[in-house]
Amino acid sequence: MGSFADFHARSINDRDAFWAEQAKRVDWKVQPQQICDYSNPPFAKWFVGGETNLCHNAVDRHLAERADQPALIFVSTETNQEKTYTYRDLHAEVQRMAAILKDLGVVKGDRVLIYMPMIAEAAFAMLACARLGAIHSVVFGGFASHSLATRIEDASPKVIISADAGSRGGKGVPYKPLLDEAIKLSAHKPANVIMVDRQLVAFTPVAGRDVDYATERAKHMDTVVPCEWVESTHPSYTLYTSGTTGKPKGVQRDTGGYTVALASSIPHIYQGKPGGTFFCTSDIGWVVGHSYIIYGPLIGGMATILYEGLPIRPDGGIWWSLVEKYKVNVMFSAPTAIRVLKKQDPALLTKYDLSSLQALFLAGEPLDEPTAKWISEGLNGKAIIDNYWQTETGWPILTICNGVEKAESKFGSPGKAVYGYNVKLVDDQTGEELTGANQKGVLTIEGPLPPGNLQTIWGDDERFVKTYWKTVPGKLVYSTFDWAVRDEDGYFFILGRTDDVINVAGHRLGTREIEESISSHPNIAEVAVVGVADQLKGQVAMAFAIAKDTSGLTDAAARKTFEAEVMKVVDSQLGAVARPSRVLFVTALPKTRSGKLLRRAIQAVAEGRDPGDLTTMDDPAALQQIVDLIKT
Ligand code: ATP
Ligand code: MG
Repeated sequence: MGSFADFHARSINDRDAFWAEQAKRVDWKVQPQQICDYSNPPFAKWFVGGETNLCHNAVDRHLAERADQPALIFVSTETNQEKTYTYRDLHAEVQRMAAILKDLGVVKGDRVLIYMPMIAEAAFAMLACARLGAIHSVVFGGFASHSLATRIEDASPKVIISADAGSRGGKGVPYKPLLDEAIKLSAHKPANVIMVDRQLVAFTPVAGRDVDYATERAKHMDTVVPCEWVESTHPSYTLYTSGTTGKPKGVQRDTGGYTVALASSIPHIYQGKPGGTFFCTSDIGWVVGHSYIIYGPLIGGMATILYEGLPIRPDGGIWWSLVEKYKVNVMFSAPTAIRVLKKQDPALLTKYDLSSLQALFLAGEPLDEPTAKWISEGLNGKAIIDNYWQTETGWPILTICNGVEKAESKFGSPGKAVYGYNVKLVDDQTGEELTGANQKGVLTIEGPLPPGNLQTIWGDDERFVKTYWKTVPGKLVYSTFDWAVRDEDGYFFILGRTDDVINVAGHRLGTREIEESISSHPNIAEVAVVGVADQLKGQVAMAFAIAKDTSGLTDAAARKTFEAEVMKVVDSQLGAVARPSRVLFVTALPKTRSGKLLRRAIQAVAEGRDPGDLTTMDDPAALQQIVDLIKT
């Protein structure tokens, strides 16, 4: 192992040689002729002239060495199913699904929309699309008709693959009526819908459109469907961002660059080895699910666990019992899930044999110190590694690459810039690069974006350029829209999103800093701070907090006392200028389906405006509480 600094420097300064070497980790039908074509910035083309196939690299290529090794381990605590598919089994199932798609006329470049719960067939569906060179667009199963309809319209799929129902807490959650309604709402109509019937919820097929998966599968038990070799730059999929800050963006990913990026990340970032087991608790509807439930572990020759169920059912030990049973080496989850576990008995963390587990990776939102400490101590000091990335990037921008060089994590920091990422902090007003330690700037990436990152926004090159590349004055650089500082050791700390900054009487304050201050009060469980327009000060901060113990907050006077107490904490830590104008107590906060705070929506209703697109919101009642509070 060399030094990480050298490794990173080479990835930037000797880019083509570096990535040519990484490209050897995957199979090519035709070798790339050019490593990176950046002649038309900001559009980067990786491994130009190369021909490959994502499904081949995830499945077929392992048959020679590991046909009988577990590839996909499906566990549902919803339906009490547990089934292991070897690479041989997976290869057969993917071909059956691909054969059905082929029968329906799906060819290279066609879009296929996947609206499915966390079942093995969802993995077959994604891999089957990749096999045919069809472009999949997975829509999170928790989304309802309206969100689904906008995505159907945007992706214009020839075929949709779905199921009768998902399941939550042991109860069937119908999908089919939502899908039918979405197709009705959408101007684009798919020619066919493949229905996986789990027999959880009865449904009526639409004659002439819907086909039954089991019936079709039975016709293709031994059908051979070869991989369609596609150009490296051929799109593998589209996927929408979480919609935390506005209308979701349809991220378009290539084939060759993505395969190489994932193949390289498994050893360098996750320290995964062929034959090992990867357990990512995300959902296939999110980017983390695409990269680290499906493609990454399989490309790396590992077994991957696909888990349907809650983290606390039958009890809060379920995930750790799976770690023991399947000898999980690499685990990947999100801070929001750990916060759910935090409410359970901590003894469940040590009840099982976790000796196989090397590290727990967490991504998706800021990993707050109390949560990081709680899980790290609970798991007896196992490495807890924060990953900072975006749907757009497909794999981490910031983290610790222990597979390159062992390094210590720092609480509150996702780590350093990952190889391939030329990360720069810039002043948002002047565009000037900030090179000093602890200077706060916008986290940007200089082009070309590394392999695996988005090629463009599906069907909208202009929005791609305008949204991401034209926000820093005088420079064509990719903006993450996140604030960060870098310390003297090169560790980054994410301070929040650029639209989370408020301006109080000329002072620019990060809402996240105020939130952290409020959270340090021992009786605060969670808090959201937003800027609200104010005639005098421009903006004032307003806080919506969830108290841990609400027993003393039954009347207005008690709430007022508590509010004053919280304000005092902010006063003493950040100064009076940061003190929120109000601290209002709620029982839930509005979040996206992926567990992120919807500050944009909170701000809108706090200012008496229409919150706009709420299709990605999890719990409308949480927002209603705020609407009601503001009125009083
Ligand atoms: P949209 O772009 O549609 O508003 P979104 O940004 O929430 O939605 P994602 O791509 O799912 O969609 O989330 C990426 C964002 O999540 C990052 O830009 C960052 O703000 C936040 N994030 C992800 N991982 C971390 C992390 N480890 N630490 C802090 N923030 C993180
Ligand atoms: Mg985003």
